[in-house]
Amino acid sequence: MSTVTLKDIGPLAFANSESGSPIVIAGPCSAETEQQTLATARALKGIGVTAFRAGVWKPRTMPGSFEGMGDQALAWLQAVKRETGMLVATEVATEAHVRAALDAGIDILWVGARTTANPFAVQEIADTLMCNDEVTVLVKNPLNPDLDLWMGALQRLAGAGITRLGAVHRGFSSAGAHLYRNDPQWHIPFELRRHAPGMTILCDPSHIGGKREFVEPLSQLALDAGFDGLMIESHCDPDNALSDSAQQILPETLKSILGKLVVRSGAPVEDELSLLRQQIDDCDHELLAVLARRMSVSREIGSYKKSHNLRVVQPARYQALIKARLDEARTLGLSQEFTQRIMQAIHEESVQQQLDLPDN
Ligand code: PEP
Ligand code: MN
Repeated sequence: MSTVTLKDIGPLAFANSESGSPIVIAGPCSAETEQQTLATARALKGIGVTAFRAGVWKPRTMPGSFEGMGDQALAWLQAVKRETGMLVATEVATEAHVRAALDAGIDILWVGARTTANPFAVQEIADTLMCNDEVTVLVKNPLNPDLDLWMGALQRLAGAGITRLGAVHRGFSSAGAHLYRNDPQWHIPFELRRHAPGMTILCDPSHIGGKREFVEPLSQLALDAGFDGLMIESHCDPDNALSDSAQQILPETLKSILGKLVVRSGAPVEDELSLLRQQIDDCDHELLAVLARRMSVSREIGSYKKSHNLRVVQPARYQALIKARLDEARTLGLSQEFTQRIMQAIHEESVQQQLDLPDN
């Protein structure tokens, strides 16, 4: 086993450009046709995009979704590189993907969130790339908020002698309704930064936000938080995109966003404060989402009680619940009085929601 640690990973060659502007990797979620790939790339050339991205093999959550055009799309990326001079990037998940992408001269490979969560797949990629010091490999965070899994994937690649390594923060999957598609949990990439201070870390606001309107504010937030750059999905016809339609933006929209982004010089005190405030925002988003879910379950219980002719308020259940919550709060270091107030308010709202249910 190699002894390379994340602390040894330096910035990517195309990071820290002289202009000090952030790295921008942009392009469609998927390469769908040669025409769509080239039209998007032509529109992205010359607007400050460092590398063109497009998924060739798409790991989709549900079978039957568009799964990418496969090997034939590599030729379209080669055409983009030839014609525009931009670096080209695609996602790899297996040995066969890596071999095909290397044969096609792809400059940047990224490991997607679903793959980072699977150590066997990451090791297979690392073994296939063994000692490759030409290709750049970006590791997206795993689907689940597990810093060790993310660091472990980077460690496997570093251990295989891959020197051009970076990371991409794309948020974490979570159940239930949330403001964003993927929960950012900013403290996790900040912790990664602490473990790998010299490594290039990008932010993917497209997959975090999941909606076009979030791309600009999340991009600014990422730059303010010290990310080295952005990976943004851009498509020449976003409404008709075959994957991730809602979050893709037109190249001209990206141009306008890049024109507006403010790159601030690091002001440590303010930075630290804003990082902490982002964590507060994260917590509040989570709290609200959990409350919404709790009320929805509560209404279901209300319907059940109604249809079975049960009373809405069941004092024994309420007393048992409060006692259990107070015990749990004690182990979490929360004040008993505060917990009692919160639980009471939640319970009152729950009862109200059940009373307000229409008769079936
Ligand atoms: C993508 O970049 O299109 C993609 C599938 O990303 P992720 O692995 O972050 O879901
Ligand atoms: Mn996508």
